[in-house]
Amino acid sequence: MTLAKEFNLDLSKNSLNLSKIPSAEILFRLERLTKSERKITHLVLWHLVEMDNRKLYLELNYDSLYQYLTKHLAYSESAAYDRIQAMRVLRQAPQVASKIEEGSLNLTQLVRVEQSLKQEKRLGKEVSKDQVFDLLNKVENKTSFETEQIIACELRQAPKTYQKVKPQSDKSIRLELTLSKEQYEILKKAQSYISHIIPENDLAAVISYLAKASIQKKEGKESEQEVQALKTQEEKFKAFESSNFKAEGSPAPSTQSFRGIPKARRKYIAESVKRALLKKAHYRCEHVNPKTKQRCNSKYQLQIDHIMPLAKGGSDKISNLRVLCGVHNRYEARRWGLNPLRQ
Ligand SMILES: [Zn+2]
Repeated sequence: MTLAKEFNLDLSKNSLNLSKIPSAEILFRLERLTKSERKITHLVLWHLVEMDNRKLYLELNYDSLYQYLTKHLAYSESAAYDRIQAMRVLRQAPQVASKIEEGSLNLTQLVRVEQSLKQEKRLGKEVSKDQVFDLLNKVENKTSFETEQIIACELRQAPKTYQKVKPQSDKSIRLELTLSKEQYEILKKAQSYISHIIPENDLAAVISYLAKASIQKKEGKESEQEVQALKTQEEKFKAFESSNFKAEGSPAPSTQSFRGIPKARRKYIAESVKRALLKKAHYRCEHVNPKTKQRCNSKYQLQIDHIMPLAKGGSDKISNLRVLCGVHNRYEARRWGLNPLRQ
């Protein structure tokens, strides 16, 4: 409670109003609080080691440490599980205590290390205390993904290659599969190319989109449903765009069909201009998502694009030129109602 005192917090009220606290003070406090949160977690773990050694929970009529944590101390199931796994790691490698306190090793990492050690034991493999400490040093300051990679490599755990397809109660399917390193990289690359369509890291949506695209390619036409979905999406986008354009006082792109528009006059853009534009764009797509304000940055099929198309009266001046990836080039052409191949 010393921090509450230090920050002059009145904890007798139901809610804390921090709206008058200066931002720098909020930042400072959060750093202090996070530090002390880690310190407390690390102290909790030490006490759990002792609690477990003495089996104190039995005296309180709990069958296990887990029961004591969830029922008596009101931890959630997952929070209790994590702390027990972490406590076991700390017992085997007390030297890591300071890393937990500093935050260079987090609970999730400790849980993964403990789980993988258990897996080794199940396989009858011995892991020495030195090896455990060595493993913990290697995963220090790493992301969860990197931690998984390091554990898999260090312990040479046999890769799981089976494929699981499990129907679930809501008719969805739970799919578990193993990709080779190359297959995974290809999938991530494909995902980056369609990140403007599927911005979230949702692999199910990515796979579904890619599957649909290859079906379309094979069948040569879009199904009725797809066409409808695309239309609604485009209408929404146009409505969004036109409200934006109006706000800026420039004309909205017409929503009419552009059939019959005379073919654009095409001028030659000098190689030196192209090179300068590419350099300015750091050799990446300059498209900015109007909603998320995120830049695409793809390096895929980079092309010089007319911000205002030639067919709509745009010029070849540098101020009207930008670098777009293949996907965004076609996307812009579609948005303006132009044939992307002719634009
Ligand atoms: Zn792009």
